[in-house]
Amino acid sequence: MRIAALTFVLTFAAAALATGFVDPGAGTPVTPAPEPSAPAIVWRDSIALGTPSAGRLVQGVRLPAEGVRFFSWDPVLHRVPNRGWRRWGTDRLLRVVLRVVREYAAAHPEAPRLGIGDLSRRFGGPFGPKHVTHQNGLDVDVYYPRADRRERPPLRVDQIDHRLAQDLVDRFVRAGAEIVYVGPNTGLTGPPSVVQALWNHDNHLHIRIPGTTR
Ligand SMILES: [Zn+2]
Repeated sequence: MRIAALTFVLTFAAAALATGFVDPGAGTPVTPAPEPSAPAIVWRDSIALGTPSAGRLVQGVRLPAEGVRFFSWDPVLHRVPNRGWRRWGTDRLLRVVLRVVREYAAAHPEAPRLGIGDLSRRFGGPFGPKHVTHQNGLDVDVYYPRADRRERPPLRVDQIDHRLAQDLVDRFVRAGAEIVYVGPNTGLTGPPSVVQALWNHDNHLHIRIPGTTR
């Protein structure tokens, strides 16, 4: 079936070339170059199955490696960008994250790009030793902005731009996050039902959005 379809496509392409159908113009390429500032996202209606610590992701959407206002960070290889298989979430999570990133950047044009870490695997499930959750496309890690504006995670809490980090927490709370984990030594606060201190979060906040789980 696939070979038949491929043959058809190739035959069509050959015929199109022969008739000049593909490019009736003056020989300029038909396909425009991709916009570096507008990374392609294949939007789909995603489903978060189960729970963040025992779940699956159906029809996930992948966060681009980077954008004008954010970069992705691989917390295992300690580099930009994060590997593609670690960047999948529900469409809703991506919309929330990208909207917060956009509005944060608009409010703080002087701020460095935000660093986004792990989301979920393409089809969810156990992520690996670094995460118990992150299993059904509802979780994402975001690194606190550094006071020295370097685009990498802070190593110590005194490297965090506290004002920007608190603003980021506030924005995710307003965006409807169900949980925002912050490091116990960061001094970051918020509504206690949402913003909770958790060990191992002194260099990033962990956001979970509510899901229509099944
Ligand atoms: Zn996390």
